[in-house]
This record gives sequence, C-alpha cells and structure tokens, in this order.
Amino acid sequence: MTAPAEPIVLTLTDLVRVHGHGAQEVRALDGVSLTVRMGELVAVMGPSGSGKSTLLNLAGGLDSPTAGSVRVTRDVLSGLDAKGRAALRRRRIGYVFQDFNLIPALTAAENVALPRELDGLRVRRARREALDSLADVGLAELADRFPDELSGGQQQRVAIARALVGPRRLILADEPTGALDSATGEAVMRVVRARVDAGAAGLLVTHEPRFAAWADRTVFLRDGVIVDATDADDPGQLLTGSRPR
Ligand code: ADP
Ligand code: MG
Repeated sequence: MTAPAEPIVLTLTDLVRVHGHGAQEVRALDGVSLTVRMGELVAVMGPSGSGKSTLLNLAGGLDSPTAGSVRVTRDVLSGLDAKGRAALRRRRIGYVFQDFNLIPALTAAENVALPRELDGLRVRRARREALDSLADVGLAELADRFPDELSGGQQQRVAIARALVGPRRLILADEPTGALDSATGEAVMRVVRARVDAGAAGLLVTHEPRFAAWADRTVFLRDGVIVDATDADDPGQLLTGSRPR
C-alpha cells in the first residue's frame, strides 16, 4: 500500500543520551531512530526508566543528545543557538508535561495565551486563540479561574490547551492522561487526535494500551532501545517477535 506520504515533522537519528559519568553513568537512550509524519500520532510505551521521558525531552529540545540528531521540520536542533531553539519550541512544539507548570498568578486563559503573546501576537488575538483552545478541552466556562480554583484534572486540561494553542506542528505529550479520570483521559485523547489529524505530528508517552490505541502506531522502549513497533498499516500487528517481556 503506497499512500502519498505526508511531510516528515520529526526525525530522530541514532539518538544516544548518557547521564552522569563513570560508575554512575546511565545510558538513558542507546541509539534510537524514529520519524513522525504530519497527521501521524505515535505512542511510546515501555517500563519505568526505559527512556521515554528522555526521548520526549530530546525531541522537544529541552535536553541535548550525547550523540545523534533531532530534526523538527527543516531545522536540526543542534544547528540552532539557544535563542533559536527557544523560539522553535514556543512556535512549533506543544509540550504537555507530567506536572502542569501553570503560573499560579495567571488565569486559565492567561496561562494559555502566554506562549502566543511571547510570539508577539496582540493580546486580544492571543486571548481569542486561548479561548478556542480551552473550548477544545471543554473548559470555556472556566477561562477566568486561577489554577488553585481548578481541580487537578482541570489544571491538566488547561496545560493541554496551552500546549495545543496556535499553529503547533509537533505535539509532545508525556503521560498527559496520567492524573485524569478515564472519561477526562478519553476527552484529552480526542483533542490530541483531532489536532494531529488537522495537520500536526504527535508523540505520546503512555502506560495504558487503551490510550495507545488512539495512535497510528506504537514503539516499545526497553533500556533505551526500541525493541518493537507496531505496523502503521495494521496497528495490532507487532513488526518483530522481540516483544518486551
Ligand atoms: P522513563 O520516562 O521511561 O521512566 P527516563 O527517560 O525518565 O525514563 O529515564 C531513563 C533512565 O535515565 C533512567 O534510568 C533514569 O534514572 C535516568 N535518568 C533520567 N534523567 C536523568 C538525569 N537527569 N540524571 C541522571 N539519570 C537520569
Ligand atoms: Mg517518564
């Protein structure tokens, strides 16, 4: 089957990330290559400590590889200076952290609008985009509440609205459903899926097969290596026999 290929948004090539030195050395990633195309959502699964968060941090330019390269659309991250990387993160990458990192002194709408204001958008337009994004996660009514006036699940949805606000090309989500009840988790997955279908690429770390089922394919990490992957044309099918134990 050869459908016309969508452009590649994320290219990870032979990524190695070593933390620490000598006896303390940990090879968090040990040669990982992966591409994600526009319209594609890839799930990353694997045991605790297998390198999932390290992979996402490298893909989002929050951490630098010991070896190998990260390319987001045309830009190789190591080829950008710190300012260029920060601008690329802000404009093109939506990163949903495990903790919410909302700014307590700002309302939900102000938290979501902030990255767009930093991009130079006028306050009114940034607010309009923020309200749209909050509506996508079902929080339009709570736009003017402060984080401490929201439940944990609502705060996580605000963080997701912020990660998805504006024309992001790459969505990186590290267990975005972790703190959510299952109905809210499904709602979040529906939003992530819709944004990917509308023209982004997504990388989603999750422990839960029912959330991974929203992805087009799944890669399995173990000890910093991709040990298996599902077939994009047949997500139920593992490509190799080396299923993680
Ligand atoms: P996961 O998200 O799959 O649980 P991580 O990417 O967080 O895995 O971690 C992979 C490995 O790298 C683990 O052994 C972890 O202890 C180690 N590690 C991650 N970050 C650091 C760090 N900043 N310093 C030292 N070791 C780290
Ligand atoms: Mg992790």
